[in-house]
Amino acid sequence: MKNIAVVGSGTMGNGIAHVFAQYGYNVSLIDIAEEPLKKALITIDKNLSRQVEKGVITEETKKKALSSISTTTFLSEGLKDADLVIEAATESVDLKLKIFREIDEYTRPAAILASNTSSISITKIASVTKSPDKVIGMHFMNPVPVMKLVEVIRGYATSNEVTESIMQLSRAIGKIPVEANDYPGFVANRILMPMINEAIYTLHEGVAGVAEIDTVMKLGMAHPMGPLQLADFIGLDTCLSILNVLFHGFGNPKYAPCPLLVNMVQAGHTGVKSGSGFYKYTPGSKDLVVAERFR
Ligand code: NAD
Repeated sequence: MKNIAVVGSGTMGNGIAHVFAQYGYNVSLIDIAEEPLKKALITIDKNLSRQVEKGVITEETKKKALSSISTTTFLSEGLKDADLVIEAATESVDLKLKIFREIDEYTRPAAILASNTSSISITKIASVTKSPDKVIGMHFMNPVPVMKLVEVIRGYATSNEVTESIMQLSRAIGKIPVEANDYPGFVANRILMPMINEAIYTLHEGVAGVAEIDTVMKLGMAHPMGPLQLADFIGLDTCLSILNVLFHGFGNPKYAPCPLLVNMVQAGHTGVKSGSGFYKYTPGSKDLVVAERFR
């Protein structure tokens, strides 16, 4: 595999493009508008520069990586040479099914089709394509250039050959792949999201404040980041979508999203990407400031 197409250039898409370009692959980055693509290239440039400063890569690798990424808003154009497509668009079942129908139409028959979905059924996504055996989950962690794990999710029909190729490819880009079967939330989010939801309920019920909840989990459980800060970092809209997949997928009320989370998403307070969630984010500032509402 040499040519990788990444569909969606947001938080995860730009990180996935960055890592493949860093390891010498040709990357075609696709989004619905020029604006997110421009933003993605700026982010990739900044993150590659940080790796150069830290001595992780050379200036030469950075330059090569940047020159191997092309961008487009035309799906058919971006997919035509792809050996592997990784979809990293917004977490919505309807959107992913629509995108996979299109990806299936525009890719060569040999291409492997992967989704970076956090929770949506790979089997369901595969069902709208002509070759469900070639569809697989490739769940990177945020931030992609830093985090080692790739959760590799086998849909009901995913072939052994495709699974093995993706396990090998993940190792080739410096990651550690772990295989999981296709059930709601897979492994990572089945365990993480109920913890985040419980932290939000703990805040909602007035048991403790934002900083207190995060401090308990950081100092008490040695988590590098508290669950509320992590939720902001992931995106509260993404957290809500994942909880809904768990809630409906298992039919168990223990996964019901906290009403405070629902309200925050409806109000557009989706965390780091919107500038406000449980904390307030000011561009250029690294200080962690609790959002006014929760002070
Ligand atoms: P994001 O909102 O930052 O980015 C999504 C991007 O998809 C946007 O740039 C949007 O314009 C683009 N998009 C929407 N419709 C599109 C279409 N039809 N064609 C092409 N691009 C389209 O979201 P994100 O956080 O990067 O999440 C992307 C995926 O990665 C989701 O499935 C999410 O569950 C998963 N994921 C997210 C995280 C995380 O921490 N944020 C971690 C692991 C996996």
